Amino acid sequence: MRKILFFLLLIPMLSSAQLLTPFEKSNGVATATLIECLSYYQELKNQFPDFIKIEDPALSANNLQYHNAGQIKLIQITNFNAHGEKIKIFINNNIHPGEPDGVDACMMLARDYLSKTEFKRQLDEVELYIIPIYNTGGTLRRGCCSRANQYGPDAYGFRGNALNLDLNRDFIKCDAMETEVLENYFHKIKPHLFIDTHVSDGADYQYIMTLIASQHNKYQNQAMEQFQQNIFLPMLYGSMQSQTEEICPYVNLDHETPDSGITGFMETARYSSGYTSMFNCYSFTAETHMLKPFNKRVRATHTLLKSMIGLAVEHKLELFNSLNDADKIRSEQNSVALKWQLDTSRFENLLFKGYHPYYDLSKTTGQQQLYYDRNRPTKKNIKFFDTYQIAKSVTYPKAYVMPYDWYVKLNLERYNLKIIITHDTIIKVKEYTNVNYTVKKTPYEGNVGVLFNGCDVITTSQKLDGNWVLIKLSDNMRFKRFLAEALEPESPEGFFAWGKMNSFLQQKEGFSDYVWDKRAESILANDSSLNLRFEAQKKDPAFNADKDKQLNFIYQNSRYFEPSYLKYPIFRIEN
Ligand SMILES: [Zn+2]
Repeated sequence: MRKILFFLLLIPMLSSAQLLTPFEKSNGVATATLIECLSYYQELKNQFPDFIKIEDPALSANNLQYHNAGQIKLIQITNFNAHGEKIKIFINNNIHPGEPDGVDACMMLARDYLSKTEFKRQLDEVELYIIPIYNTGGTLRRGCCSRANQYGPDAYGFRGNALNLDLNRDFIKCDAMETEVLENYFHKIKPHLFIDTHVSDGADYQYIMTLIASQHNKYQNQAMEQFQQNIFLPMLYGSMQSQTEEICPYVNLDHETPDSGITGFMETARYSSGYTSMFNCYSFTAETHMLKPFNKRVRATHTLLKSMIGLAVEHKLELFNSLNDADKIRSEQNSVALKWQLDTSRFENLLFKGYHPYYDLSKTTGQQQLYYDRNRPTKKNIKFFDTYQIAKSVTYPKAYVMPYDWYVKLNLERYNLKIIITHDTIIKVKEYTNVNYTVKKTPYEGNVGVLFNGCDVITTSQKLDGNWVLIKLSDNMRFKRFLAEALEPESPEGFFAWGKMNSFLQQKEGFSDYVWDKRAESILANDSSLNLRFEAQKKDPAFNADKDKQLNFIYQNSRYFEPSYLKYPIFRIEN
């Protein structure tokens, strides 16, 4: 609350006619603070009230006003009086607050669209949605130095949020309240195009701006692949070049330098663009390069965003048609890819403007070290590998069912997809049992992940009652792909892999051997088939020498053993 009052007090100081941003006033060395940024948009609203709205996140019972997520504003800029379907473009900034180029670029962009005729007329056809600053907690942890190699600005925020989570790894798992706020905005708006702004480290090269377009195979949708690859991207590359802001695909390395080729970035559902593209939204990540001056990076981001908006408006019909076709294709799809593999046999030649890489003896480590010679710019064809093949796919079920408590635990409540089962039903389900797994060794983004090594798949009759929920895919077409990627145990981005379902991997009850020993004896006496299996096991000397193992074997095969152990608690209904 204190922050909000402070911010209101500041507004009168910003009422300059020119509406220069803090970045412009600093001659391109400073990025706006959270207060400066939000005050600036407030001032735009004061000056252009008919074309801009500022929205606050929906406050729930979570006391969001005390949480950093409560400060994630959503700016909407459009001509509210123009009718007809408009293109909805959603731009997100400062998910990584050490990479603030988009914050300052969007402030200028918003002003330009509100005040300059050439841009303003596009507002008849486009709705711009801007999150001025997303990782507000990280933005408030402002300092000089956490981006060790970056060329400006003078001060900036920190990558992690207040919980030290990287919000650009949180989308499908949604541990952070910030993620829930952004996802709420996203699903309410249903944008056609999404852009997340960043600054890249990694190899050195000449380009100021590089771009991750959502990996085209991963759309699993020819209509979107065709529009993005054959229409939108060539136009965008051309447009940037004609504005002397030549761009390059994001320089994603499999080897030490770009000379050996670069690969298309497979942004899975943990990333903002990987998440948003699952919902048939064209998704992009802008990546300026850390070693270019902040001033130039912000200008390049501004030019890129402006060009993307302009091209989307220009190709509005084709864009809408492609997305209509894409929705149709999705509704007819029977399966979805869970894992991908780069096709190393397919590549295109890319004329790449780099810097000469060389190795020299390091005075620090005494070892050979890679450097780039910025005085020796290079221009050569390199290989761009951007075809991925499906390595694992799964057929869609008709529905998923699970106990209500799991539905809540997995935070699926945020999407409201369920049907609560109101009367007892017995239904045929496919279930995953005897799940074989390996727990990962180190925590990652707030979780200890689990590797799925396999399981038995069986068809059973499951009794469902008022404590169960049913999620029908046909009722949730928009979420069809999300559901499979989140709920299938084999999905590398699923809740199981993130370690959010570990409780079913633990046995809750056991036995006392001094009592169980006699009970086991009578069980074997009355169950000849179990007895045979037990005797067969005893041929293994290790088993034969271990009485605990033997008693446990009989326990696990008796009616006393808990059936929920290692049984995946989400079931598939297939017909
Ligand atoms: Zn980043």
